[in-house]
Amino acid sequence: MAVIGIMSAMHEELAAVLAEMPDEQRVVAAGRDFWVGHWQGHSVVAVLSRIGKVAAATTATVLLERFQVDTMVFTGVAGGLGSGVRVGDVVVASGFVQHDMDASPLFARHEVPLYGRACFDAHAGLSAQLAKASAQVLHAAELHLSRETLTQFQVSAPRVHQGLVISGDRFVSTNAESQALRLVLPEALAVEMEGAAVAQVCHDYQVPFAAVRTISDRADDMAHTDFNRFIREVASRYSLAILSQWLADRQPD
Ligand code: SAH
Repeated sequence: MAVIGIMSAMHEELAAVLAEMPDEQRVVAAGRDFWVGHWQGHSVVAVLSRIGKVAAATTATVLLERFQVDTMVFTGVAGGLGSGVRVGDVVVASGFVQHDMDASPLFARHEVPLYGRACFDAHAGLSAQLAKASAQVLHAAELHLSRETLTQFQVSAPRVHQGLVISGDRFVSTNAESQALRLVLPEALAVEMEGAAVAQVCHDYQVPFAAVRTISDRADDMAHTDFNRFIREVASRYSLAILSQWLADRQPD
C-alpha cells in the first residue's frame, strides 16, 4: 500500500490533520513526532516540517528512510511575489529554486552544486491533483471561512496559481527584499522557507513531491501583520480542506 507523507509547516495545520486521523500512533525520530495512521482509507504519516531548509530536509529524509513514504505533499503558507498573487490565494508549486543558493563564480547563481540545476520540479501529476482540489475548495471558500474572516483579510474571489516557488532561510518582510527577489527571479510566484529543500531530497530519492501554499502575506513591510491569526483562521482550514478533497478524489492503492 502506498504511504503518503504529509508535511505541514504550521502546528495548526498539523493539528487539523491529526483531528481527522482515527488511529494515529506517535513515533519519535530525530527529535520529531511522526504520526503514523490513516486518513480516508489512505496510509499516511503526518509531521511538522519545522521551519527552514535544513530542518525540513531532515524531516523529509526521515519520512523517506524510516517510514518508506512514496508520495510526499507539503502544506504551509508563503509570501506572494508574483503580481496578482494575493493574500488568501493558493499557489501550487510547479518547481522550486533556493533563492539564497549562490556558489558563483564556480557555478551559476542559484544552481545547486553537483546537481547541474537550479530548479527542482514538482511532480506534474500530483501537482495537477492538488491544483484541482485547491480550485474546488477555493470555489466554495465561504464554506470553509466565516464571512467575518473573509472581510478581515480582504479575501474575495481567491485564486489558484501554479508556478515557481522560491525558498530560502529568511522570512522576507521588507519591500526592498521582495523587490530584489522579483528582479533576480521574475517568474517566482511565492517565497517560503522549506519547499526547495524538500524537493531536492525527494529528487534524490526519486519520490513524487508536490506542495500547496496559502498566501499569508505579500513578503513586504506589512508581512508580519496578523500572521498567526491568518494561519489559524484561513491557512489551516484551507490546508485541511484541500488535502481532504485531494484524498477523497484519489484511489487508495
Ligand atoms: N513570524 C512567524 C514566523 C514563521 S516563519 C511566526 O510568528 O511564527 C514563516 C513560515 O511561513 C515558514 O514556514 C515559511 O515557509 C512561510 N512564509 C510565509 N510568508 C513568508 C515570507 N514572506 N517569507 C518567507 N517565508 C514565509
